[in-house]
Amino acid sequence: MIKAFIERVLPKKTAVRKEHSGKALGIHSEHMSKNAVYVCDKLQRAGFEAYIVGGAVRDALLGVIPKDFDVATNARPEDVKHEFRRAFIIGRRFRLVHVMFGDETIEVSTFRSNTVKTTDGSKGAGEVESDSTGRITSDNVYGTQAEDAARRDFTINALYYDPMRDVVVDFLGGLKDVQKRTLRLIGKAETRYREDPVRMLRAIRLAVKLKCEIAKTTAAPILEHADLIQNVPPARLFDEIQKLLLSGYANETLAALRKHGLAEGLLPLLDLIYKQPGGQKFIELALDNTDRRVREDKPVSPAFLFASLLWHKVTKRWSEIEAGGENRIPALMQAMEEVIDGQRETITLPQRFAGVTREIWLMQPRFEQRTSKAALRVVEQARFRAAYDFLLLRAAAGEVEQELADWWTNFIESDPDIRQELISQRQRAQARHTSPSGEGTGTDGPARRRRSRGGRGRRRDNEGGADSGGAGSADNA
Ligand code: ATP
Ligand code: MG
Repeated sequence: MIKAFIERVLPKKTAVRKEHSGKALGIHSEHMSKNAVYVCDKLQRAGFEAYIVGGAVRDALLGVIPKDFDVATNARPEDVKHEFRRAFIIGRRFRLVHVMFGDETIEVSTFRSNTVKTTDGSKGAGEVESDSTGRITSDNVYGTQAEDAARRDFTINALYYDPMRDVVVDFLGGLKDVQKRTLRLIGKAETRYREDPVRMLRAIRLAVKLKCEIAKTTAAPILEHADLIQNVPPARLFDEIQKLLLSGYANETLAALRKHGLAEGLLPLLDLIYKQPGGQKFIELALDNTDRRVREDKPVSPAFLFASLLWHKVTKRWSEIEAGGENRIPALMQAMEEVIDGQRETITLPQRFAGVTREIWLMQPRFEQRTSKAALRVVEQARFRAAYDFLLLRAAAGEVEQELADWWTNFIESDPDIRQELISQRQRAQARHTSPSGEGTGTDGPARRRRSRGGRGRRRDNEGGADSGGAGSADNA
């Protein structure tokens, strides 16, 4: 206890400030966002220190194009706000400033310290607060640049770039780790995971994304501390899992998480799905599809992704409720609500996604109705595209007949009069299959669904079938 206390209070031996020329390291202010450079320039002109920090510096050094930019400064949030026309102070856990430029936001944070002055749960004014497990619940303590470096997670995330002077500042050997492609936690791993269990997820996500090795001392404690994830507030977990799923490396990252013992309990819905026949293939296809889209810089929809992840839970409940005597559509609606409510405890699915997720699911039985005008109306639904992409995914996973998906592809690509003819053809085909009195009333769904379930997993050659839009277009979100 005392040792941990001293370790955190005293400045680290290794925290020596070293400056390196950006040019020699192969980075340049042109690799950075113009707006981030402008923010640094403006703050420096006002007499403050200001650096581009974290992921952007790391990515640029590793040859990855940075996607978002953070600035660290000794200016207080109010001072930062004062310098820019469109700047907003946000955050409770950390107070930061969002400086807005069109569709780019530069996140500006004041140098902070991670110095905990008490370890017995009591706290003084302005100190870092933690709960009984050691998790930091509030840390708005301002500090020096060296302290700011030490409170960051990994050494390669604690590099500062001054675009005006073209220098990289390193306190903790981050540059050496960049060169070795090693992801190493700053400080004692156990303590850092206790302070913020999300760092375990970040370690694995970043290692996969950056193709880095996780240092032994950073990787080893994960298995033992995996349980701490349960303490993370669901909204924060949702954000992190969304990042992970939309990283462009979702399948690979999930495999790595499982290897490190982090999938169990963390994503109970995923465990459940992986154990179901057919479920694993469905999820892998959904994630492959999303990964491909992210890497091609195409928009992806979190709502679509969550619809995919939870679908097998929904279909399982749906069958059970239907077997209990409920009608098909009300049974689906009940199953949907139960599933959405059920995972709220672990990962909060924000309402704005839940609405679209529901619509995607609810459209699925409607695709089975091809013998009436209903088919014409389905196409006009706002979520048609996302729901259709979802149908393609189900077909690729062998969950519904490929013929059904192909029929819809053909249908939406056809002119209105041809669409009418396609419906008439279905009606005639239906009439041939039913008894003379059983006319096609648009109920070719339930029977079809039951028949087609046996075909699950048979159509491996159809994997590409879900490619036509996959994770849905941006307007699905
Ligand atoms: P990404 O490529 O996913 O954006 P990132 O490292 O930039 O990766 P951000 O969430 O944008 O991730 O965080 C920016 C910086 O803030 C990080 O590089 C790191 O220095 C610091 N940081 C983020 N999360 C944590 C954390 N949980 N604990 C300590 N420092 C963190
Ligand atoms: Mg970032």
